[in-house]
Amino acid sequence: MDLFEYQARDIFEKHGVPVLGGVVATTPEEAREGAEKLGGGTVVVKAQVKTGGRGKAGGVKLAHSPEETAEKAGEILGMDIKGHTVHRVMVAQGAKIAEEFYFSVLLDRSNRNYLAMCSVEGGMEIEQLAVERPEALARIAVDPAVGIDEAKAAEIVDAAGFADDIKGKVAEVIRGLWTVFKAEDATLVEVNPLVKTEDGEIVALDGKVTLDENAGFRHADHAELEDSAAADPLEAKAKENDLNYVKLDGEVGIIGNGAGLVMSTLDVVAYAGEKHGGVKPANFLDIGGGANAKVMANGLDVILGDEQVKAVFVNVFGGITACDEVANGIVGALDLLGDHATKPLVVRLDGNNVELGRQILAERNHPLVTLADTMDGGADKAAQLANA
Ligand code: GDP
Ligand code: MN
Repeated sequence: MDLFEYQARDIFEKHGVPVLGGVVATTPEEAREGAEKLGGGTVVVKAQVKTGGRGKAGGVKLAHSPEETAEKAGEILGMDIKGHTVHRVMVAQGAKIAEEFYFSVLLDRSNRNYLAMCSVEGGMEIEQLAVERPEALARIAVDPAVGIDEAKAAEIVDAAGFADDIKGKVAEVIRGLWTVFKAEDATLVEVNPLVKTEDGEIVALDGKVTLDENAGFRHADHAELEDSAAADPLEAKAKENDLNYVKLDGEVGIIGNGAGLVMSTLDVVAYAGEKHGGVKPANFLDIGGGANAKVMANGLDVILGDEQVKAVFVNVFGGITACDEVANGIVGALDLLGDHATKPLVVRLDGNNVELGRQILAERNHPLVTLADTMDGGADKAAQLANA
């Protein structure tokens, strides 16, 4: 989960990383109040969107009075930055910047390690710097078992080439950012720019934090950081019901058990779709093991709520889950949904208790349900129905 800058700011503050005061506002009036709360001096009005390059897009503006703050907030709110609409701004205390640096620490999947990156040339052109002059961006591996201790922080600031008089301070801030990374179970903590102010202080002026959702159970407070307004409503509904659902762009709804089976079902449906008007899978949905009527009903309910879906393919391999349970699940789900179920369903069952499962569906003889013997056959039928 990616955080907004203001959320990153709050987390930095919580772990003792130096930041400037910041207040979130959703209207120009709130922005004016924010500026007053910060003391009425120079502030920066910053678009809160989960994408970079806000500065270049005009989403970061200085304001010298509460009135001007309201005005600038009015300009930025509603702005579109790389496809993200600005719904809120952060009014932050203005910094007198002497120098801009760059620091990040992230999960380095390809090397199965953590990686710290640091440069004395931070600011808005960091991506360009990384490509054009990679030697100006120090890359230091961080052993997860050790983390960024005093020695590692010293190695990082040396490699980046900080001036001697600020090395110590920068190293301390870097260790604070490591604390954030570790304590919050982040996969990315990036600060660009990390600045030296005219008073010689080191301050994190922008923050990008990605939290590892797999560690959510350790952090009760992370749930409220979620931007529920931005989530796809179907994905939000699926999440509420503990379903593993990802919305895609096609017409054939997919339900399967086990991530591997669902993935290959997507492939087979996409392939079959080529013969049927180019229809594609509409989603990924893994109902997992032990799928009872309720889980099946919730899954079907989510998929049928997708207006783009024209047909559904249920592809279940009975392992721990027996096919008769799944069949009862489908029948129960259709009964639960009643008139809400309006789209054709192709069902392919195989494995544990398959005969009984097919018998249950055959006996119920629901007008929307077609039984398929094979995965390819089922995919083809579902694609054909979706294209009808
Ligand atoms: P980004 O473009 O989305 O990464 O947004 P940033 O928060 O990094 O802001 C972009 C640029 O705005 C920074 O590199 C700074 O040069 C400038 N900026 C941000 N905050 C301040 C501030 O408090 N004072 C001044 N003078 N400039 C700022
Ligand atoms: Mn930035």
